[in-house]
Amino acid sequence: SGDSSTPFRVVLLGASGVGKSAIASIFAGAVDSMDCEECELYTDEVCEQTLTVDGENATVTLLDTWDSQDDGGCTQDKCIATGDAYLLVYSITDRSSFLRASELRISLRRHRPAQHTPIILVGNKCDLVRRREVSVSEGRACAAVFDCKFIETSAAMQHNVWTAFHGIVQQLRLRRDSK
Ligand code: GDP
Ligand code: MG
Repeated sequence: SGDSSTPFRVVLLGASGVGKSAIASIFAGAVDSMDCEECELYTDEVCEQTLTVDGENATVTLLDTWDSQDDGGCTQDKCIATGDAYLLVYSITDRSSFLRASELRISLRRHRPAQHTPIILVGNKCDLVRRREVSVSEGRACAAVFDCKFIETSAAMQHNVWTAFHGIVQQLRLRRDSK
């Protein structure tokens, strides 16, 4: 998948409040900055965009459905099972969200044990330096244990968000090309 006919499915996972929808808003082009009022109104859960990464187009369907599902478990399982790649988001200002990301990483591994599923651990809200509870080195170490990439972002400052999406496309292509 990943050509224009079959988009890559990228799923946003992470605790509530970490900034998944803010990241989705940037992907959707819905906001120029978080200062604008529209940001709060952005509620689309599925958005498709064509990105140019390394000179080649890739179509990505981004799913921001995680928080909107029933807690029966069934739909979250489905959500976890149907992605081609995952952005595992926590907030650097919230240690519990960092622990939640670890739990989700374990769930992902359980659902797709044999595959090298592209995952990026995303430490969002890096603009909030004075409220930081999770250091950069902790994030990096966690990603090393998880065998996934790591990036810190700020949806508020639009910092590194597109870098994360480009990174996930690059990983998806590597995986596709190695098959
Ligand atoms: P979600 O529950 O994971 O979808 O999180 P939201 O996208 O709804 O964001 C939760 C709150 O954090 C909102 O008030 C956002 O404005 C705020 N927020 C999201 N990303 C950032 C960020 O990078 N920096 C700052 N300062 N606030 C953010
Ligand atoms: Mg949300």
